[in-house]
Amino acid sequence: MHDYRFFREMSMDTQNIASRLSASGIFRTQGLIGGKWSEAYDGNTIKVHNPTTGDVIANVPCMGKRETSDAISSAYDAFSSWSKLTASERSRCLRKWYDLIIAHKEELGQLITLEQGKPFKEALGEVTYGASFIEFYAEEAKRVYGDIIPAPVADRRLFVLKQPVGVVGAITPWNFPLAMITRKVGPALACGCTVVIKPSELTPLTALAAAELSLQAGIPPGVVNVVMGNASDIGDTLLASPQVRKITFTGSTAVGKKLLAGSAATVKKVSLELGGNAPCIVFDDADLDVAVKGSLAAKFRNSGQTCVCANRIIVQEGIYEKFANAFANAVQNLKVGDGFTEGVAQGPLINESAVQKVESFVRDAVSRGAKVMLGGKRHSLGMTFYEPTVISNVNSEMLLSREEVFGPVAPLMRFKTEDEAIQIANDTNAGLAAYIFTTNVQRSWRVSEALEYGLVGVNEGLISTEVAPFGGFKQSGLGREGSKYGIDEYLEIKYVCLGNMDSA
Ligand code: ADP
Repeated sequence: MHDYRFFREMSMDTQNIASRLSASGIFRTQGLIGGKWSEAYDGNTIKVHNPTTGDVIANVPCMGKRETSDAISSAYDAFSSWSKLTASERSRCLRKWYDLIIAHKEELGQLITLEQGKPFKEALGEVTYGASFIEFYAEEAKRVYGDIIPAPVADRRLFVLKQPVGVVGAITPWNFPLAMITRKVGPALACGCTVVIKPSELTPLTALAAAELSLQAGIPPGVVNVVMGNASDIGDTLLASPQVRKITFTGSTAVGKKLLAGSAATVKKVSLELGGNAPCIVFDDADLDVAVKGSLAAKFRNSGQTCVCANRIIVQEGIYEKFANAFANAVQNLKVGDGFTEGVAQGPLINESAVQKVESFVRDAVSRGAKVMLGGKRHSLGMTFYEPTVISNVNSEMLLSREEVFGPVAPLMRFKTEDEAIQIANDTNAGLAAYIFTTNVQRSWRVSEALEYGLVGVNEGLISTEVAPFGGFKQSGLGREGSKYGIDEYLEIKYVCLGNMDSA
């Protein structure tokens, strides 16, 4: 262990938690290449901060092209044996990994709160959610069925095999340091692929802990590799390599488009889970309590820093005032603070530029006539804390409704008719999640079908689960994660034609 590297610059709290984590054996601060923990070859490091206090938690290697090339080679070598194991052998490894993640739930939750800032209870929820993808795909590993196709010619037999695509480059963001990794790596490993993971440089420690547990679970060296550091060097190396057959990415639309373009040269399979601009439509006939509770959960989870967070709360005029007041009351009760403090529902934003983005969106809205009902400024706690905010009279010209704010700001918009609500909701290049609140069953079907979104929550604000497909329409992405559909992203379909079957 490298304790000496992370004790000096920390406040007592961060230090206590870090030293407890260190004792648990999952606090890793090096990259993982071919089963070996590794520094950057030039010795460079980057600091990982606790966003709540600003403390440096650890220094991790700042890797680039050479380390990534080696990680790709390790994954490529490991592919030949990992892909040849039986499905049940791979399934058992994944199940063991799942069991270890659950056995270390507390420590992983602490690590997530420490490097990402979300409340500990939410972090524990992420561990359960993240682990569920490993468990689910441990089961799915055994169900990668092919087909036999009735032959159009008497002396032939036609088969369809599903085979792993090969080495996968998995690039993940900071908002779910564990779950964004497991929902890529779970299906990839289940069907026989091997991976090079590049976690966000802001939150690499959870990824490294998960990788440590994968080794403990008996997943062979080289099957799971982790590199972090210079994002574009690592990304470019993954893109350029003909050995990497698949890129799976969660993050910003801008980077996703770069990766899609960069995959063209080697014609890689690509899945992208990009930004959203989720509408949350509250109809006059909604149950007010259900709508407030659901919108609150959809908006303020992870302090608004998820791509399925409600970005526009679109409320019908008959219920607008009642909803706005009840919603603002509920938001007022959200306790802001250190994620390790009991009862805290809102942690800090990930960094200063995230706060500045929120501030600029709020300024833009106010300058165009929106009204701050609650919050609207930095929190007195300082650092990157921002007050849970409700803004009314938002219209479709404002940045708040055009782009993802990725912070604890709920913009309220008003509409008159169902058609108008659908038009406003679909008037965006994004198409990830949408929410509707209504007690009218016909309306719930009608509007769900009309929304150009990959996920729709009806009278429910928290809808992600490992058993259902997650992914976007339009510029929100390509492909699906989770569920029986998620494993297809890591499979090639091979048609085999057996001829000359009649000759004895
Ligand atoms: P966010 O705004 O959520 O940080 P990003 O798209 O910037 O979204 O980051 C998501 C992931 O993409 C992170 O792991 C980040 O390091 C990585 N990333 C950023 N730029 C590139 C790039 N040019 N090539 C590959 N990965 C990148």
